[in-house]
Amino acid sequence: ERALTRLSLDRGGPRDLSALREGLRQAGALSETLRSTLGVDGPAELTEAAAALSGHCETVGLLDAALVEEPPLLSRDGGFVGKGHDAELDEARALRDEGRGVIASLQARYAEETGVASLKVKHNNVLGYFIETTAKHAERMLASPLSEAFIHRQTTASAVRFTTVELSELETKILNAGGRALGIEQRIFGELCAAVLDRAPAIGEAARALARVDVAAAMARLATEENWTRPEIAFERDFIVRSGRHPVVERALRREGGEPFIANDCDLTADAPHEEGGDPKPIWLLTGPNMAGKSTFLRQNALIAILAQMGAYVPAAFARIGVVDQLFSRVGAADDLARGRSTFMVEMVETAAILNQAGPRALVILDEIGRGTATYDGLSIAWATLEHLHDVNDCRALFATHYHELTALAGRLEGLKNATVAVREWEGEIVFLHEVRDGAADRSYGVQVAKLAGLPAPVIARARDVLEALESGDREGGRAEALIDDLPLFSAPPPQKAPPTPAGPSAAEARLAELDPDAMTPREALDALYELRALNRKAAGGD
Ligand code: ATP
Repeated sequence: ERALTRLSLDRGGPRDLSALREGLRQAGALSETLRSTLGVDGPAELTEAAAALSGHCETVGLLDAALVEEPPLLSRDGGFVGKGHDAELDEARALRDEGRGVIASLQARYAEETGVASLKVKHNNVLGYFIETTAKHAERMLASPLSEAFIHRQTTASAVRFTTVELSELETKILNAGGRALGIEQRIFGELCAAVLDRAPAIGEAARALARVDVAAAMARLATEENWTRPEIAFERDFIVRSGRHPVVERALRREGGEPFIANDCDLTADAPHEEGGDPKPIWLLTGPNMAGKSTFLRQNALIAILAQMGAYVPAAFARIGVVDQLFSRVGAADDLARGRSTFMVEMVETAAILNQAGPRALVILDEIGRGTATYDGLSIAWATLEHLHDVNDCRALFATHYHELTALAGRLEGLKNATVAVREWEGEIVFLHEVRDGAADRSYGVQVAKLAGLPAPVIARARDVLEALESGDREGGRAEALIDDLPLFSAPPPQKAPPTPAGPSAAEARLAELDPDAMTPREALDALYELRALNRKAAGGD
């Protein structure tokens, strides 16, 4: 389609013609395959595509007969029409190419006649063809008898240039042949373009049919290879997904060969009576630690809704999606400084658009609203947004947040359900389970995640102290400002200047490098394992 557009705008080149040729050739082959596979009662869309893809043999034949296998980009340089297509062109080319051979033999002859072995016949755009010698040899050529035949044209710093009557005549002949060949090629290019543009509507149809088949084939392949399922589309405001997955994250995890993707259910069904039993809960408030998988869960459900409505299978074991007429997403942090919008401003503009527009059939995903401002401002905005979504927009929504205070709203808002992404704590570390369950998270484990990310140990230790003081202050109803005054900021040991972890290998790593597993008995290997664990614990500041 792109090649056709370029040609129709007079901006195309020989490569566009050859792209059309290849595309239409493949289209013909694909049409045959489709017809034989689909039989008579295949899906209408594919049968129509098969029809649009066929019938281009003549165009392919025309282009095939004229073009070389791999034509150059631009028509102005010529060289794209194959040999044997046009007798006049072949003749002009022979003369042009022969001319080059004649020049070479002329050079050899002149070298011999003048006794200047380094003499060259060259060409440039100013002089055309000329004979060049070094200044050293020029004297001989400037003197009689050679000067009678060799006419001086130019002296440069390092060379002297001549011409002869014979060379000028030959040049005219060669140039004419080259120019004529180019002219013929241009004419043929014009004819081919006109022929193709005559057939433009049919070629455009074929291009669109190829695109449709491409999408259908890709979706079918995903459906079978990735074990997707055929969704049900409902007219009620259902939204039931069982064992849903995020197709991209799942594939990335598989490529890394690590943990498998954990499938999760979602039920945002908005209208009673609810077949799953219980009250409909169209808004889920998702809390859970950093890195637990909240954003992934939000996006996978939005993707499933889009896939279902575009007619594709979906990455889930079961899905029933009540038609969604608007999909809103507010995720990630971005700014638009050039247009005078800070990160928080962008966030609020987008949230405003959602709250002002989302109707009862909308699906909304909101990821961490109110993060770009002061804690209490953010919390208040998130709170009011949630209430508005529930009471006014009355839509299906997934709302991820770290403001655990919001979970209390589930007691008051009928259609709000608390959900959390589970983690387990093990020996002071967190293990991400990536399972979405009923209930609310009590904390975000931000400090642990920061540690995993490699924040220096003194920063982590200090953050733990601050967190502890802030949390106990909260419990006791104290003001954060007062608490911060109380924190033993200056009595705390000054952070170590040197990084807590040595730059080189740790003791455990050094010991590990010394081990020679082939020379160890099983008993020695087990002892070494205990020793390594002890070294590791010591390094981590454990017992
Ligand atoms: P934060 O609050 O820090 O933004 P989050 O809870 O939104 O975190 P995600 O960004 O969704 O977390 O997920 C973090 C990582 O966890 C993903 O990049 C992915 O590798 C992994 N992950 C998320 N969901 C799953 C899942 N269901 N199964 C396996 N791995 C998952």
